[in-house]
Amino acid sequence: MEVKALTLVLTRRCPARCGFCPQEFKARDMSRQTLRAALRGLGPCLGRGGRIKLFGGEPLLKPGLVRAAGRGAAALGLEASFELSTQGKLMDEAMCRFLAGHPEVEVFFGRPSPWVRRLPGAALNFILPPGQPAEEVLARLRQARGMGFRRFNFLPVYFKAWTPAQLAHLRRAFAGLARAARGGIEVLNLRRAGRVPLYNDGWCVDTDGKVYASNLVLVRDGILRAGRLALGDVRRPRHLKPFPPARELDGLLESCFSPEVLEGTRRADAELTRFVLGLQRSGAGASRPFFSGPLL
Ligand code: SF4
Repeated sequence: MEVKALTLVLTRRCPARCGFCPQEFKARDMSRQTLRAALRGLGPCLGRGGRIKLFGGEPLLKPGLVRAAGRGAAALGLEASFELSTQGKLMDEAMCRFLAGHPEVEVFFGRPSPWVRRLPGAALNFILPPGQPAEEVLARLRQARGMGFRRFNFLPVYFKAWTPAQLAHLRRAFAGLARAARGGIEVLNLRRAGRVPLYNDGWCVDTDGKVYASNLVLVRDGILRAGRLALGDVRRPRHLKPFPPARELDGLLESCFSPEVLEGTRRADAELTRFVLGLQRSGAGASRPFFSGPLL
């Protein structure tokens, strides 16, 4: 399997504790040595078109690691692009200046942030909570656009037991968002796909240097204990196991979530898929390659 994504979990801590977040938090950060080993051992395998995700927890709790990742990639001549996922609250002048000087880093904010005025390529992970009426969703979209956001990744809250009434709200909200997409916003869902809602295939290096086949391991220790995603240790990259076939991953989510929650997730994800397919047919919301210049 060709690996195109490398998720680096810079920290398992996050002060935000959003109610919808399915992650398990721990007081653990990645060390610089582990970061270097991940970039050196796995970065070159991604090649052009690959993506390195600076992830958490909240990666901006470790701003030095964010900068070190960029500089380390440059020193190694890596061709992969970068993505930084942050809730946004810990963005400060120094980090904003660093990121503004490196437009090849695609910043995803977890909530509308005035820093977008300084980072015009930044995207918003736009969360759709169960039961929010379409009018409120569209008002939030207008507000985010008023702040300067033009690029959106729409995400229904996953791993919740969506009721039929909540799913009906979600469908109406997506209908309104499809109209908004014709008005010029960029919908990043058009270039994202995965086998599991919310989580990404590819290498995931946890804070301790253990390598997994998906960042799904961040959800619950139950998935870690299952061991089926474990590939090895980033300090011994030549001994990493190959990715497990998809059927071997069956049952992982079932070990962490109830059938009602998984069914709700599946249905909410189906609404998102319907929205994306509609946009593909109409040509609205089209994404452009984010950046094609040199790396950090
Ligand atoms: S900011 Fe992100 S990692 Fe932190 S609690 Fe919210 S969704 Fe989870």
